[in-house]
Amino acid sequence: MPKPDPRPESIALLERLVAALAARGIVSEEEIAAKRAATERASPQIGARMVARAWIDPAFRALLLADGSRAASLFGADMRGQPPLGVLEDRPGLHHLVVCTLCSCYPRAVLGYPPAWYKSQAYRARAVRDPRRVLAEWGTVLPPDVQVRVVDSTAEYRWMVLPLRPAGTEGWEEAQLASLITAETLVGVRLPQPGPALPA
Ligand code: FE
Repeated sequence: MPKPDPRPESIALLERLVAALAARGIVSEEEIAAKRAATERASPQIGARMVARAWIDPAFRALLLADGSRAASLFGADMRGQPPLGVLEDRPGLHHLVVCTLCSCYPRAVLGYPPAWYKSQAYRARAVRDPRRVLAEWGTVLPPDVQVRVVDSTAEYRWMVLPLRPAGTEGWEEAQLASLITAETLVGVRLPQPGPALPA
């Protein structure tokens, strides 16, 4: 009698799916491994550096808004075979919130794996129905005259937010500015804010 497989059933299902796709020549195990490695190299720090650069370099800002994928590749993200990266520009009076209502679409090649809450059914439903309440739960309370625009990430387009540069950061270095940005900021649930103090 075969030994029972102690792993979750989902793992065995995934292996059978990969084997079936490979057998039909749809995707190879090598391609999947390469994509996984690219996601593991990516991180919110790449997005944070892109935002910080855009705040201090108008030419990079223009590129970021016009062609997010190219801007990301300049920061080491491997965008080959990836859906394009779109960048949503917050303005005074306009705040963006990113969600994937269908599943968990996220710019993985740039920001890495999505946070667990981003994939939760609660976030996906509530971000659309009641974005202001979701934002408030993250401590993001926007004045009533600020419009909240909820944008759906899809298989065709992956979005990240270019937030407003906070007041009081004039003259800051790029690395210092980048330290204000987290995965939460890049999706729009939080505004840029100081994190733990940088080592001196
Ligand atoms: Fe999705």
